[in-house]
Amino acid sequence: MTERIILLCLVCFLAGLVVVFYRLNKRLQDEVAERKKTEGERIDSEERLRTLINAMPDIVCFKDAEGRWLEANAFDLQLFQLEGVDYRGKKDSELAAFSRFYRQAFLCCEESDEVAWSKGCVSRSDEIIPRPDGSAKVFDIIKVPTFDQQGRRKGLIVVGRDITERKQIEQKLETDRNYLKVLFEYGGSGHLIVSSERIIVQVNQQFCEMLGYTEQELLGQSVRMLHIDEQHYLDWAPRFIQARNGVTHLRAEHPSLRKDGSIIWCVFTGVRLTLPDGDQGVVWSVIDISDRKQVEVELLQAKEAAEAANRAKSEFLANMSHEIRTPMNGVIGMAHLLGATELSREQEQYLANIESSANSLITLIGDILDLSRIEAGKLELEQVNFSLRKMLDELLAGQQFSISQKKLAVQVAIPDNVPDILWGDQLRTRQIVLNLLGNAIKFTEQGGITISTTLVAHRDNKALICLSVSDTGVGMSAALLERIFAPFEQADNSTTRKYGGSGLGLAICCRLVELMGGRIWAESQEGEGSTFHVELSFGVPDQSTIQQQRNGGEADSETVSRSLAILLAEDNPISTEFIVKLLARLGHQVTAVVNGLEALEQVAQQQFDIVLMDIQMPVLGGDAAASIIRRQEQQRGGHIPIIALTAHAMDDERTRLLEQGFDAHVAKPVDVTVLLAELKRLTGTDHE
Ligand code: ADP
Repeated sequence: MTERIILLCLVCFLAGLVVVFYRLNKRLQDEVAERKKTEGERIDSEERLRTLINAMPDIVCFKDAEGRWLEANAFDLQLFQLEGVDYRGKKDSELAAFSRFYRQAFLCCEESDEVAWSKGCVSRSDEIIPRPDGSAKVFDIIKVPTFDQQGRRKGLIVVGRDITERKQIEQKLETDRNYLKVLFEYGGSGHLIVSSERIIVQVNQQFCEMLGYTEQELLGQSVRMLHIDEQHYLDWAPRFIQARNGVTHLRAEHPSLRKDGSIIWCVFTGVRLTLPDGDQGVVWSVIDISDRKQVEVELLQAKEAAEAANRAKSEFLANMSHEIRTPMNGVIGMAHLLGATELSREQEQYLANIESSANSLITLIGDILDLSRIEAGKLELEQVNFSLRKMLDELLAGQQFSISQKKLAVQVAIPDNVPDILWGDQLRTRQIVLNLLGNAIKFTEQGGITISTTLVAHRDNKALICLSVSDTGVGMSAALLERIFAPFEQADNSTTRKYGGSGLGLAICCRLVELMGGRIWAESQEGEGSTFHVELSFGVPDQSTIQQQRNGGEADSETVSRSLAILLAEDNPISTEFIVKLLARLGHQVTAVVNGLEALEQVAQQQFDIVLMDIQMPVLGGDAAASIIRRQEQQRGGHIPIIALTAHAMDDERTRLLEQGFDAHVAKPVDVTVLLAELKRLTGTDHE
């Protein structure tokens, strides 16, 4: 029994032993399989790592504690020309033998490894690695020393990245930055950078100097402090917004307030700028233009002074001509009266000379007065209906004496398509053509003169007409042609001596034509004659208007010849004598008084057909007397025509007098024809 038990126990023990053995064996087999698997995975992982490292475009190198190369990637080997070299286990100094070009680089490397070891932590440096083709590359080299637990050197990992391109970009950026800085600081203008809130962010030295502040005083301040007042600051806002919105070439001049309270004028040119914090600001480039502004102010003052001088000149000329006209009144009047007395032949000749000189003088005065009137802007245009053909006929008739004296042939060419009746300033048109005709006669010794008219354009009731005066006279050089429309311009002194004249005629024509909205020009060659053209625009009245005028004209022409009772109020005895004798010769009854008060007394006592009233008289002036007469007429009715006689020939004077109740204005010295024409118009009496 015991043996059985022992046997059973033994069998059980053996069976247990077998199970244990089996389990141990199984575990061993599993462990071996597991280890094999892990080993395989490790090898795979190492393989992947090596492939990865090899594929990297960076330097990767592992060294042991003594600096011997353990592993290097393809990029590293290729860079240092170590491809195919058994580099493992070799130090840099040994590898230097394989590459002549990089010998020095390897030796330096050993030194920098030592630095990394001694620092005991990651060290980083930019290394310049020359290339055999002469170029160089910059590498960002990182060295990582590793140590075991006892602090002993274990290995060194070296990685390096090619940063040549980045370095180049950085360098360019640096250069640009420097360039911009130099421009900002020393670019020749002030610079001011402001934020979107118009706060000063940056200024340069020049701007500070312009405004008299230091940089510290300006930075962080509102630009309000630079504006002359609050309104100016607000007014400037739209410009700032425009600049901030990217309007390019935004340029404006404006005054700025300096620290000392003085004003500086600057040109501001603004460009949008994104500030480092992303805010949209504006950079202003500022140029000091105070000097230019000063010159502008001086120019303006000079211009105003010149204009004032010109006005003074015009006024002086007008006054002078007035002063000369008064004695001339006497000279011409007396000559006229003298001509009506018994004279010897010699005396007649002297008288003719006096009249001719007086007429030249009066023409010159008239010209000067005309020019000063135009230049002072005091000439007003008149619009009337007139016949162009009749006007030209009359003009020629007036010049017939000089024309026949020189035996010149005259032709007038007016095509049928040129309207006969025109609406415009007949007086000025006449004056212009008369001037051109006068010159043509004056400068032509033989041959002839042609006056022609051309219809340039005719639309609606407007006609553009070109009036041309050609002659076969002395002609003009090209140089003279350029100057003739300027005042006082003549060919040369000999011309003045030979032909006379003031050189004002064409200047007046030119200004009149400009005033009438037309143009004037001349064509000429020395010795080949001249042609002057005047292009003017006229209105063309319709037939019914023309007919009405004709009827009116016919009624007008029904004048009678009768003796008039005339009151003359004039304080100048010579003028009085002249006018009294002139009118008496025509059969009129003239009562002469010497001031306005006497004139009023006479009007109260007697019935007059017309009053001739001088303006400047002692006791009571002519204009005051006329006003009183008109007031009296308002109460008792009636209207006595009053003609103002005055040496003031300006248009505005004439308008003033007509407004005061005068019916007409006759300039002194009295032109007999003009006076008689006014008498005829106002009384219906014909003297012819
Ligand atoms: P003036 O009173 O001297 O004639 P104008 O202004 O009428 O002044 O003319 C200026 C100058 O132009 C004249 O002096 C003359 O030299 C030149 N000129 C004008 N018209 C003619 C012309 N028909 N033929 C030649 N020269 C002329």
